[in-house]
Amino acid sequence: MHAAGRGPGLAYNPPMKILIAKPRGFCAGVHMAVDTVQELIELIGTPIYVFHEIVHNKHVVDRFIRQGVTFVDAIDEVPEGGTVVFSAHGVSPALRARSQQRKLRMIDATCPLVTKVHVEARRYAKQGCKILLVGHAGHDEVEGTFGEAPEAITIVESPADVEHTAFQPGQQLVYLTQTTLSTDDAKIIIDAIKRKYPWCEAPPKEDICYATTNRQHAVRQIAPRADLTLVIGSKNSSNSVRLTEISRNVGTPAHLIDDESELDNAWFAGVSTLLVTAGASAPEDLVQHLIQTLLARFGGSAEEVDLIHEDMQFALPVQLRVLKSSMKG
Ligand code: SF4
Repeated sequence: MHAAGRGPGLAYNPPMKILIAKPRGFCAGVHMAVDTVQELIELIGTPIYVFHEIVHNKHVVDRFIRQGVTFVDAIDEVPEGGTVVFSAHGVSPALRARSQQRKLRMIDATCPLVTKVHVEARRYAKQGCKILLVGHAGHDEVEGTFGEAPEAITIVESPADVEHTAFQPGQQLVYLTQTTLSTDDAKIIIDAIKRKYPWCEAPPKEDICYATTNRQHAVRQIAPRADLTLVIGSKNSSNSVRLTEISRNVGTPAHLIDDESELDNAWFAGVSTLLVTAGASAPEDLVQHLIQTLLARFGGSAEEVDLIHEDMQFALPVQLRVLKSSMKG
């Protein structure tokens, strides 16, 4: 992509080279969750309720609201017998039980990689292990995982939180992590855990998911070549916020924006190379609109920097597949 020209009233900018990170944007879990709600709308129409934001992206949520979907933060807001979709971040067993009591039709769009952490939490708790869950308290995913074994789990957000725990050497311990943490930050907290509890086990397989790891790796590799990084994503999207932090960690300032309307010309003074990426819940059309806006405003060219090929795909929730086949028959 090439363009020339500069918007009126802008300070001088050299022609800008835009590096577009790949992989970026939707991961397999978000694709599955978004497709689930879309297919459900087409299959049964509204009202459809979604517990919490289906994925943490304002545009995705607004597009569904415009199609008549209702987002709720309390399961009792769903009328008895209604259809509810659980978001990609997962829910606790208590919430499932309450949904059952209210005879809700549940469509579970939890990402399988979040479910994997839930299964680990249940299994370790059953074995009598105490679990240090590295993650952000209050995040939907952490609340769901915590709810699997509240009696066994302690959430730690920092090395200081680890210091405040007091487990004895006879106590079996394991750490698990939220799937969307910064690998840099997680390492600091996990190192603190290992220092304090050298016998603490690691999860059988890394909990920080492939999509988080790959998007962060791309920023870590490309950001040193850029003067500025723009991340498309919503402020409550953990993995999007982490991408800005990774860029800053390698010395490149970064801004998190929902879309091109949040651009501030003052950010671009003297910027000749710009990195653009998107969090795992940000739709690709927002990236393309941003690139077009930047090229129209500053001129220059855009090129994709392709670092890792992703081909992960997740099946639609079993409840949706059953519903589809029952409606066909
Ligand atoms: S970011 Fe990872 S864990 Fe979260 S939905 Fe995407 S693939 Fe699943």
